[in-house]
This record gives sequence, C-alpha cells and structure tokens, in this order.
Amino acid sequence: MHTIGEISRMEAQFVRDGVDLRLLARRQRMVLWLFLGSAVGELLLFAPGASRLTAQGAVVEVMIMLSVRVAVIAGTVLVLRALRTNVMLLIALTVLMILPLVNLLVLLAENGRATKTLRKAGLRVGLMGVKDEEVVRLLGANRCRKCSYDLTGNLTGVCPECGVPIAAPMARGLAG
Ligand SMILES: [Zn+2]
Repeated sequence: MHTIGEISRMEAQFVRDGVDLRLLARRQRMVLWLFLGSAVGELLLFAPGASRLTAQGAVVEVMIMLSVRVAVIAGTVLVLRALRTNVMLLIALTVLMILPLVNLLVLLAENGRATKTLRKAGLRVGLMGVKDEEVVRLLGANRCRKCSYDLTGNLTGVCPECGVPIAAPMARGLAG
C-alpha cells in the first residue's frame, strides 16, 4: 500500500514543465488507436463492394461509427487538457470539432504538439505514440525533472546538463 503522498510523488516523476508526460503519452496512444479504428471501420463500410446490410444493420453501423467518432473527439480533448491548453481555447476547439474536417485538423495539430512535447523529454515517439514502459524507463526515478538527464550517482545536487537543483525526493533516494 502507498500513502497519497507517495503516490503523488511517484506521479510527479513524470512531470516536465508542468505537463504529466506519462498521462500525455497514455492519452495520445488512446486517441491514435481510436482514430485508426474509426478510419479502418469507415473504410470497410464505405468501400465499393462492401456488403450491404439490412436497414436495421445499417442503423447499428452508423450508431457505432458515431460513437467511435465521439470517442476520438473526447480523447482529443483529453490530450489537449494533458497539454495544459488554455481553457477558452479548449472550449472553442471542442465546439469546433463537431465539424468533420475541423476535428481531423485539431487531432493532427494536437498529435503533433504531443509528439513534440514527448520528444523534447527524450522519448522516441513512433507513429502510434510511445509505450508506457518506455516512458517509465526513460523518465522514472533519478531523472532530472527539467531535462530528463540520468542523475544516478549524482553528488553535486545540481543537474550537470541543465543546472537545475535536484528535487528532495531524488536526493533522499540517493542517500538511502
Ligand atoms: Zn537537467
């Protein structure tokens, strides 16, 4: 069992410049998979020669497609929140994303920003994002909170890469 203080410290390991990169990576992956699923689904449905269903079947298809689209939009909003997007901009974009082409543009822009933010911290982000194990391995304990430099064995108390003082939990970890 972990106390609340321990859990928040564990989560804080992944925060760089106020952005929780583990949360961001998780949400980015979710949106990418949902988007891939919806794109493949719609391609199969509308492909020439796709089997035509009964009227009831078609209604079910459309319902599923719309739900996936809504899930993609909701996921995109969650990524924008993880990126700490300004609240007014977030509301404006959420409303605009009801429009079909706009949601794609927002998704592309948001995904690009998420990738850039994650790469800045030294993560290798692929087409489908970056795996959670990779985030934990590269940004976990004993990494600089500012630049992710590996601080194992550091005795100066200052990050040699960017000069930021090492936070207390990390220093305690080294002492213990
Ligand atoms: Zn640093």
